[in-house]
Amino acid sequence: MSDVVVVGSANADLVVEVPRRPDGGETLLGGDLLVLPGGKGANQAAAAGRAGAGTAFVGCVGRDANGAYLREQLAAAGVDTAGLAESERPTGTAIIYLTPDGENSIVVSPGANHALDIELVDRSAELWTAARVVVLSLEIPRETAFHVAARAAAGGVRVILNAAPAARLDAETLALCDPLIVNEHEALEVLGAGVQDPDAHDYPRLAARLREAGARSVVVTIGADGALIADADGTERVAAYPVTAVDTTGAGDAFVGAVAAELAAGSSLLDAVRFATAVSAVSVQRVGAQSSYADRAEVEAFIA
Ligand code: ATP
Repeated sequence: MSDVVVVGSANADLVVEVPRRPDGGETLLGGDLLVLPGGKGANQAAAAGRAGAGTAFVGCVGRDANGAYLREQLAAAGVDTAGLAESERPTGTAIIYLTPDGENSIVVSPGANHALDIELVDRSAELWTAARVVVLSLEIPRETAFHVAARAAAGGVRVILNAAPAARLDAETLALCDPLIVNEHEALEVLGAGVQDPDAHDYPRLAARLREAGARSVVVTIGADGALIADADGTERVAAYPVTAVDTTGAGDAFVGAVAAELAAGSSLLDAVRFATAVSAVSVQRVGAQSSYADRAEVEAFIA
C-alpha cells in the first residue's frame, strides 16, 4: 500500500511556440509540437514519487496514446498507476501557446478527467483509504474531490487539499484540510473575497482568515516570496531560495507533492514546507512540470 495517494487530474500538455496569439479566422505557423506530461494531480504524484514516498495515483485517462504516455511517465517517477482508470473520453489536454511576451495562452480540455466520478473513484478506495496522506486538487469534478476528502478524513487519513483551480470552499470542507495549500489568488477565492479585499496582500492575515473559516492548517505559497504556514503552533514564513527561474510551470504542484511526501514520512508541517521549497526551487530552474522535478538525492545536494 502507498503512503501517499494523489487523486486528481492527468493532462497531456501540447505546447507550441507562436510569434503571437492568432486572430479570429487566422492561421499561424508555430514551432514543433512538444507533448509534455502534466495535469495538477499527475504532477503532484510525480513530485511525491521523486521525493521518495511510496505513491499511487488515482485518476482517469482516455484509451489513447496520450493516456498511455501519461501512465508511462508516472511509472517512471516511481508512481503506482493501478488506480489510473480509462474512459471512452479522450485524455485531458492543455493546449498551450507560448508567445514571446511570456504570456502563455492555455485552453484546457478536461476530457477523461471529468469522467472521474464518485463511482469510479470508489473502485480505488482500498488505495486511498489506506494511505497516510491523500492529496486532492480541483481539476476533477469537485463532488469527487470532496467525497474522497470526507471519506478519507473520516477514516483517519490526513487530507491535503490544493484548491486549484480556485474555488470557494465551505466550512465543512475546510475542516477536512490539514493543510489547505493555496497560492495568494486562490486564498482570496476560497474565502469568497476578491483582489479589492483589504487583506489581499497581507498573507499572514489571509492565512489566519482561512483558519478562522475552518481549515485545520494552511499553507499560502507566494512564488519567489516563498510560503507562509498557519497552524495551531502559529504562523511561520519560509523564504524561497534565491534562484534564477527559467520556467515556473508546475512549481506549485512540485511543492504540494513534496509536502505530501514529507508529511507521510512523519515530518512536521514546517519541515515539510522547507523541503518542498527546495524541491520547487530546483524545478523552476528547468523547463516543464514533471520533467523539471528532481529526485531526493538531488534536492538534498541542493540544500547542502
Ligand atoms: P504554478 O501555478 O506556477 O505551479 P503556484 O502559483 O501554485 O504555481 P507558487 O506560489 O508560484 O505556486 O510557487 C510554489 C512554490 O515554488 C513557492 O512557494 C516557492 O517556494 C517556489 N517558487 C516559485 N517560484 C519561484 C522562484 N521564482 N524562485 C524560487 N522559488 C520559487
